[in-house]
Amino acid sequence: MKLNILIILTLFHFLVYSQNKKTIISSEKVMDLKDPKLKEKLTPEQYNICVGKGTERAFTGKFWDHHEKGTYTCAVCSTELFSSETKYDSGSGWPSFYDALDKTKVEEIKDISYGMVRIEIVCKKCKSHLGHIFNDGPKPTGMRYCVNSGSLEFEKK
Ligand code: FE
Repeated sequence: MKLNILIILTLFHFLVYSQNKKTIISSEKVMDLKDPKLKEKLTPEQYNICVGKGTERAFTGKFWDHHEKGTYTCAVCSTELFSSETKYDSGSGWPSFYDALDKTKVEEIKDISYGMVRIEIVCKKCKSHLGHIFNDGPKPTGMRYCVNSGSLEFEKK
C-alpha cells in the first residue's frame, strides 16, 4: 500500500515538473535559427527567407512601399537593424536602406550562388538572412542595403 502511494506521488511530481518545464520553455524568446519554435513564429515564406536564404518576389513584401517613421527589427531575434531615416525608394521592389542603424549588427558574407558574386547580409546576432548589399546606393554612403520585407518587423516611433 505504501509503495503504491509512493509511486503515485512520484508520478504526480514528475507530471508537475514536466508541465513547469514546458511553461518555462514556451515563454522564452526565439533567438536563433535552430529553435524549433521558429516555424511557429514565422510564416512559411519568412522561414524560407530567414533560414533558407530565399528571396521574396519584388513588389510583394510588406515594407517595400512602407513610409512610417520607426525602426526595422530582425524578424527572428528582434535586434534593431534599420531606421526609417535611412530608407529610400530604390525602385527595386525591396525595402532599401543606405545605411544600417549600427553596422556592427549587420554581418556581410561573400555569396557566389546563382553564378553571381554578391555580398549577403545577415543579422549578426542570430545569422538570419536579410538580403544583399550593393554599392549603387545614394549619398552619403553610396550603399544599398537591399532587404527582404520577410526578414523584418517594424516598430513604429
Ligand atoms: Fe536576428
